[in-house]
Amino acid sequence: MIVRTGIERGVRELQDEEFVPKNNVWCPVGLNSCLVLDNNSHSGFCAGIGPFDVCDRLQESWVEEEYAKKVPTLGELQEQRALDSPLLLYYVLCVLLDDLFMKIPKETVDCVVIGAGVVGIAAARELAMKGREVLVIESASTFGTGISSRNSEVIHAGIYYPPKSLKAIFCVKGRELLYKYCSNHGVPHKQIGKLIVATGSSEIPKLNDLLNRGIENSVDGLKMMEGYEAMRMEPELQCVKALLSPASGIVDSHSLMLSLVGEAENHRTTFCYNTTIIGGHLEGNRLYLHISESEDLEKQIGRFPLHPELILIPKLVVNSAGLSAPSLAKRFNGLNRGVIPASYYARGCYFTLSNIRIPPFNHLIYPIPVDGGLGVHVTLDLDGHVRFGPDVEWIDDIDRISNFLNKFDYSVSVKRVEKFYPEIRRYYPTLKDGSLEPGYAGIRPKLSGPRQSPVDFVIQDEDIHGVPGLINLFGIESPGLTSSMAIAEYIATRFLS
Ligand SMILES: Cc1cc2nc3c(=O)[nH]c(=O)nc-3n(C[C@H](O)[C@H](O)[C@H](O)COP(=O)(O)OP(=O)(O)OC[C@H]3O[C@@H](n4cnc5c(N)ncnc54)[C@H](O)[C@@H]3O)c2cc1C
Repeated sequence: MIVRTGIERGVRELQDEEFVPKNNVWCPVGLNSCLVLDNNSHSGFCAGIGPFDVCDRLQESWVEEEYAKKVPTLGELQEQRALDSPLLLYYVLCVLLDDLFMKIPKETVDCVVIGAGVVGIAAARELAMKGREVLVIESASTFGTGISSRNSEVIHAGIYYPPKSLKAIFCVKGRELLYKYCSNHGVPHKQIGKLIVATGSSEIPKLNDLLNRGIENSVDGLKMMEGYEAMRMEPELQCVKALLSPASGIVDSHSLMLSLVGEAENHRTTFCYNTTIIGGHLEGNRLYLHISESEDLEKQIGRFPLHPELILIPKLVVNSAGLSAPSLAKRFNGLNRGVIPASYYARGCYFTLSNIRIPPFNHLIYPIPVDGGLGVHVTLDLDGHVRFGPDVEWIDDIDRISNFLNKFDYSVSVKRVEKFYPEIRRYYPTLKDGSLEPGYAGIRPKLSGPRQSPVDFVIQDEDIHGVPGLINLFGIESPGLTSSMAIAEYIATRFLS
C-alpha cells in the first residue's frame, strides 16, 4: 500500500484555494492530488491538480454520495491499512497516475487560443498580427463547427443591450470593424437593414424603449415608423409600428472565418484540429494546459481517468471554447472556481421557407425580444434563402467530455414548427400552411437561466482570477459574431499592454 503524507507542492497550491476548508485533515497523495477529510462533519471530498479526473469525479459524486455518511479520518485510514478500502485503492490509483502524469511530454509555447470559432479565430489573428506566435487548439476537425456556424448571420447594430455593457460596446465597435473587414477582404455581406416590429399597441412602449436604448448605444440612423410606412416598404408585413435600423446587415459567416483563418495563418498562427484541451493546472502561477487527441477522447466518453497526452505551457491563453468555456475553466485546477459563472444552454431552432422564388421580405424582420432570445425573426442569407428562428428551448448540460467534443443535440424536432406558425403570422399573416421545413439548430451559451435577467458577456483576466496570461470568455452569445473583431482587439490590447 502506498500512501504518501506530508505537504507537497500540489497540496500547498490547493491550500490557497478558497473553496477548500482550511481546518481539515489533508491527505496528500503523490505530487498532484490529495484527499481532504473533514473530521467534524464526517464528510470528505477530494481535490487535486491531477490526476484531475479521479479527483473531479470523486468530488462530484463518489465521495459525496458514497462516503458522505462516514469518511474515515486519516488516522483511521492509516490504522486500517486495508487495500480493500476504496479510499486506499484510490490512493494507489492516484500515485500510479501521478507518476504517469510526471512523464507526460511538456512544451513551452507563446499564445494558445482554445477554440476555432469566430471569436477564437479573430483573437488568434489579432494576436498574430501583433507579432505573437499563436497556436489555436480546436477539438473538431475544422474551424467554425460550434456556435459560429449555427446562428442567424446577422450583423447587429447594437440596439438591444444595456448602455455601457460589453455587449453594447463590442457590438457597435465590432459592427464597424466587421463591415470594414468584409469590404476590404471580399467577404460576402450586405447591409440590408432591419425592421423591429410591434404587432399590437401593447408592444409600442417596448419599441420606444428599444429606440432610446439604441440611441444611448450610439446606433446611427434609427427611425421610428408608422405601421403603414413599414408595410409600404415591406408589403407582406403586418405591424402597427416599426423601428428601422439601417445599420443592420447579414454576413456569410463561413467566408468570414475562412478569411480570418487565412490571415492568421499568414502571420504564423498554427491551427491544430482534432485536438482537445481536457483541463489544466496551475504551476508557479502559470497555467499548464492538458491536451488530448479528440479521437482518443471520443473512445473515453463516460470513462475515467482521462490522462493528457501532452502538456502545453503557454505565456498567454485565450479560453474561447464557446459552449464549453465555463466547463473547461472548472477543469483548470488551482483556478478559483468562485469566479466561474454558472452556465445554461438555450437551443434555438430554425425553419426555412420552402418553395419560394422571391423572398417575401427585403429587410430582416424582428419581433419584440422574448425571454432568452430576440424572438422568432426573419433572416435572409446572401443567396436569398429565408429562415425563421431561433426559438428558445432550455436544455441540460452534458458530460464534460461530450461538451468539449460538441456532442450536444442539434436535431430540429418537426413538432416545434407548430409554435412557429402562429408566432410568424403575427407579422407575416399570409404565411402558408406547410411552407416551413426544419432547418438547423444552434445553442446559446447562457450565463442566466430561464426567467432570469440577461447577463452581459464575461471577459475575465488576471485582475479577476489572479492568473497572469489567462483570458476566459464566458457567455459569448449573440451578438458574439458581430462583436468578434472588437473582442479580439480588446484581448490583444489587454494582453499586450
Ligand atoms: C441561435 C443563435 C443565433 C445567433 N445569431 C447571431 C447573430 O445573428 N449575430 C451575432 O452577432 N451573433 C449571433 N449569435 C452568437 C454568435 O454565433 C456567437 O456569439 C459566436 O459564434 C461565438 O463564437 P465562439 O468562437 O465564442 O464560439 P464557437 O463558435 O462555439 O467556438 C468555440 C470552439 O471551441 C471548440 N472547443 C470547445 N471545447 C474545446 C476544448 N476543450 N478544446 C478545444 N476546442 C474546444 C468548439 O469545438 C468550437 O469550435 C447567435 C448564437 C446562436 C446560438
